[in-house]
Amino acid sequence: MQCVYLLLMLRFLYIATDRTIDMMFCLLATIILPPENLLPPSLYLARKMVGMEDLSAYEYHVCHNDCYVWAKIPKEEWPEHYDEKCPFCQNNRFASVHGVPSPSKVSRQ
Ligand SMILES: [Zn+2]
Repeated sequence: MQCVYLLLMLRFLYIATDRTIDMMFCLLATIILPPENLLPPSLYLARKMVGMEDLSAYEYHVCHNDCYVWAKIPKEEWPEHYDEKCPFCQNNRFASVHGVPSPSKVSRQ
C-alpha cells in the first residue's frame, strides 16, 4: 500500500501525466516485480485502492508552452472542446489518447 501512495505522490511532485504513472504501475506490476505482487497494474485501480477521486475537477488545462490557461470545463465536455487551440501559439488544448481527449498539459495551482 505504501508503494501505491508513493507512486501516486510522484504524479504531484513531478507533475507527471496520468499516462506516465499508469505505465509505471503497469510495468512494475506485470514485468519488474515478482508475479505474486499486490501492486495494482493501472493508475485507475491504484486510485480505486486508496479511495482517491478523479482529480480532473481540480486541474487547469494550460498551453504546452505555458502561455495560456483555459477556463475549467467538466470532463464530459472535453470532446466538444477537442479542437481548441492556444490563442497565442496555436498548440492544441487536447491530445487523443486511444481516441479519448486528454489535456496536453495540466496545472493544479
Ligand atoms: Zn500557447
